[in-house]
Amino acid sequence: MSAGSFYITTPIFYVNDVPHIGHAYTEVAADVLARWHRQSGRDAWLLTGTDEHGQKILRTATANGVTPKEWADRLVETAWKPLLQTVNIANDDFIRTTDERHEVNAQKFLQHLHDEGHIYTGEYEGYYCVGCEEYKQTSDLVDGTGEYTGQLVCAIHSKPVELLHEKNYFFKMSAFADRLLALYEENPNFVQPEAARNEVLAFVKRGLSDLSISRSSFDWGIKVPWDESHVVYVWFDALLNYITAAGYGQNDEEFASRWPATHIVGKDILRFHAVIWPAMLMAAGIEVPKQVFGHGWLLVGGEKMSKSKLTGIAPSQITDTFGSDAFRYYFMRAISFGQDGSFSWEDLSARYQSELANGFGNLASRVIAMVVRYCDGVVPAAGELSAADLAIQATEKRVTDAAGAFIETLAIHDALASVWELVDELNGYITLQEPWALAKNPETRARLETVLHTAVRGLGTLAVLLSPVIPIATAKLWTALGGDGALADQRVDRAWDWAGGAQVSPLEPLFPRIESIVEPTDG
Ligand SMILES: [Zn+2]
Repeated sequence: MSAGSFYITTPIFYVNDVPHIGHAYTEVAADVLARWHRQSGRDAWLLTGTDEHGQKILRTATANGVTPKEWADRLVETAWKPLLQTVNIANDDFIRTTDERHEVNAQKFLQHLHDEGHIYTGEYEGYYCVGCEEYKQTSDLVDGTGEYTGQLVCAIHSKPVELLHEKNYFFKMSAFADRLLALYEENPNFVQPEAARNEVLAFVKRGLSDLSISRSSFDWGIKVPWDESHVVYVWFDALLNYITAAGYGQNDEEFASRWPATHIVGKDILRFHAVIWPAMLMAAGIEVPKQVFGHGWLLVGGEKMSKSKLTGIAPSQITDTFGSDAFRYYFMRAISFGQDGSFSWEDLSARYQSELANGFGNLASRVIAMVVRYCDGVVPAAGELSAADLAIQATEKRVTDAAGAFIETLAIHDALASVWELVDELNGYITLQEPWALAKNPETRARLETVLHTAVRGLGTLAVLLSPVIPIATAKLWTALGGDGALADQRVDRAWDWAGGAQVSPLEPLFPRIESIVEPTDG
């Protein structure tokens, strides 16, 4: 990794089905972090993509009468790439595990592990959940209910598991348990948040088994390079995307400049990223990731969001009414990143109205309208500063630093809460300073100009600080303020120090009133 580089990834999403708001949530969080680091002057690089191999895809494609590649192409073009537009993701790359750059270099990785003696041939018998694409321990299974009464079912999918017996290739993962424990010990930030770290630690302390990394009962996958009758286990294949997209095997210079990455993952796939993945990298002699951060689940009506449980909500159901900025703001603000959080239409619409429309949008509209009305749109110079003006300036600096510090620990919700202190203080400032009253009296003209100057400065700082989260509204505000250059080029770590414009221009409502919200009744 070169100094100043920041490589961040989302999980690559399984093309078995279409995206729901849980996927969009992960994308937005990674995108906000990437945009923030980019605006802090770092070489930030956001990777996302799709996971396209495995038995589940094969079965879904077959059920739909197409080849698995045709199925994957269709879902990528009609669902997964459009998701990025829907929630306004500025990703730098999109990898598909069917890309040649991935398949060829994943084989190179596997061959290397084989040559180094980390892989052996064995027999495996175990319970396999096709939904999870994972062999299950009996402790991962529960008694089925309803039509599955009397059978063992996957605790996540509530569907029966299959007893498989195969000749497989195995990765000697058990050999890495001590090195993994040392990694968690020496670098407590490697797995975060704390609850996730504790879970992973406890799991590895119970001892690691070797990992079956090939399948021979179907052929939709990357061929094992020394035995083409086997395909690579889909998770082993998928995890490698994080390095094959960054140049592993084909561009050493690029790889050295990007790797290691920060991985944002749902907590249900934590073990793959915090146990299996670093063990694979250790075996290959590659540096482990910088961090694995497991975020919580989105709960709707108290249940984990998933299409299979019929609570799936398409992101466009929200953005069609509220817009992508509101989607991004809501999920980043309302849910503590790393914890489970509940989504509700009532909470979304209440926050849209009170925080975005009234708190931020109205503030921007009012200040700009007053500069137009009282100063012909020319941003006035400040006169002597009062304690109230200096307090606003101090808050601009304080929240810029606080938000930056929170982003370093991935506490996106806390960063936003800090920035909102400036929104609230500026609203209070306008109320107390009463520029409309100052405008009535020629003797308070200098004071009016100082107040409007201070308010415009504060708005510009907000535009810069909020641009990673609500890029569309803040770009409109930046233009209306006459800000210098593109908003995305402004340094978020020096937000208070923005180059002010000379002239404002009219601003349409940033968060227009939403007359009625029709709550979708079915995902
Ligand atoms: Zn399952």
